[in-house]
Amino acid sequence: MPEGPEIHRAADRLHAAIARRKAQGVFFAFPHLESFASELTGRRIRGVEARGKAMLVRFAGDWTVFSHNQLYGRWLVVKAGSLPDTRRSLRFAIYTREHSALLYSASEIAVLHDGEIDRHPYLARLGPDPLAPGVGPAAVARRAATPRFRRRSWASLLLDQSFLAGVGNYLRSEILFFAGIHPRRRPADCSPPELQTLARAALDVTRRAYRTGGITNSSDRVTKLRRQGFAFRQYRHAVFGRDAEECWWCGCGLRRETLAGRRGYFCPTCQPATPG
Ligand SMILES: [Zn+2]
Repeated sequence: MPEGPEIHRAADRLHAAIARRKAQGVFFAFPHLESFASELTGRRIRGVEARGKAMLVRFAGDWTVFSHNQLYGRWLVVKAGSLPDTRRSLRFAIYTREHSALLYSASEIAVLHDGEIDRHPYLARLGPDPLAPGVGPAAVARRAATPRFRRRSWASLLLDQSFLAGVGNYLRSEILFFAGIHPRRRPADCSPPELQTLARAALDVTRRAYRTGGITNSSDRVTKLRRQGFAFRQYRHAVFGRDAEECWWCGCGLRRETLAGRRGYFCPTCQPATPG
C-alpha cells in the first residue's frame, strides 16, 4: 500500500495539473455518487491535498471529494483527450481543458461538504501528519508518552493512523532503525531522550521519503552506496526488505519478523531489545 509520502506526491502532481482549473466534466462509477457529477461539473478546483493516506480534491462552492486508495487504488494524470493503457476500472475522473485526473480501482470515495470533512470517520481519527506543516518532534514525543499510547509496542503504534497519519510498513521499519529502537519496545520503556530521538526520526524519515520519492536511507549512505555501484533497490532502505543481508552500519545480519501482523525488519545490534 502506498504510504503518506507517495500519497502526498500524488496530491502534488494532481494539484499542479488541475488546481484553479474548471472541471469540464466529472465522472463517478459508483451509482450512489452519480448525482454529484452534475453538481461538480463546471466548478473550479480549489486544490488537492493529502491527509495521511487519503486525498481531498476541493471544489469551489464548499464541495470536497474524499478518496482512500486502500491497496489497489491509483491516480493517473494524462493530457486531455488521451486515455492511459490500463485494465483497471475507473472510479472517479475530473476532466479539465488541459488534463484528465483519473482515479482507478479505489473503493472508498465520498463527496462531502467542507464542514463534514473533520467528522469523516477516517479523517476524524487521524493523528498528526509528519508531512503537514507545523508538526514538530516535541509534540510527537509527548503524544507517545500519553496513557493512550505508551504501553503499546512501537511496531504496533507506528502502523496506527491515529498515532501518526500516513506512516505504513516500510516507514515503520526505517523510523525504528534510525531511532535505534527495537520494534518490540514500548514508549513506556523509553527514556525521554529516546522518545525525542524516535519522534525526530519519525518526522525526518517520512519527510526524506517524500522529498526523494521513497528513499529512506540517509543521503550520505546513499551517495556512498551509489558510488560503489549498488542498485536503487539495494540502497533505497536501511533495513526494510533486506533480511538475510548485512547492516550497512555495523555489519550484523538483519532480521525479519512478523510484527503487529506485518513483516518488519531491524538490526539486532543497532536496535537492542534491552539497551544499556
Ligand atoms: Zn546494525
